[in-house]
Amino acid sequence: MNIDQFKASFENEDACRSFFESVLWRSGRLCPHCHCDKSYRLSGESVRAGLYECAQCKRQFTVISHTPMHSTELPLWKWLLAMYYMVNSSKGVSSIFLAKWVGISQKSAWKLGHAIRKMMDPGAELLPALSGIVELDEKYIGDKPRYEHGVKHKRGRGTQKQ
Ligand SMILES: [Zn+2]
Repeated sequence: MNIDQFKASFENEDACRSFFESVLWRSGRLCPHCHCDKSYRLSGESVRAGLYECAQCKRQFTVISHTPMHSTELPLWKWLLAMYYMVNSSKGVSSIFLAKWVGISQKSAWKLGHAIRKMMDPGAELLPALSGIVELDEKYIGDKPRYEHGVKHKRGRGTQKQ
């Protein structure tokens, strides 16, 4: 997805929330408090968008409850934009650049980056496990080539390694 497609896909908070709901609740909405799969959407003028009430424990939740995005002051599109930059950068993004690109303070960017990395952690139980065909970006395996006087081994793309 290029940045224009990104902007078109996540043009407002509702679109961003729907995206998170479709990913995090892929196999049905779950109450983060008791893991019950029966809940109701709350509506009304005083109710914030995306709020649900569990049929079993009667507690309320949204798609970001019990995630590192919980109680965020940033709009969801900024979270998604930061995720977009982070997953599209093979070497990681510093909080200085993240702050500049997302339009937040460096302190916020640092927290944001930390929270996103936490969500990307394979040990995190927030996201469903990978299944089916999983693709990995390029990776060179093996140690440095043996030193040979006067021979300069190419790095990256030009390497002879597998
Ligand atoms: Zn519940």
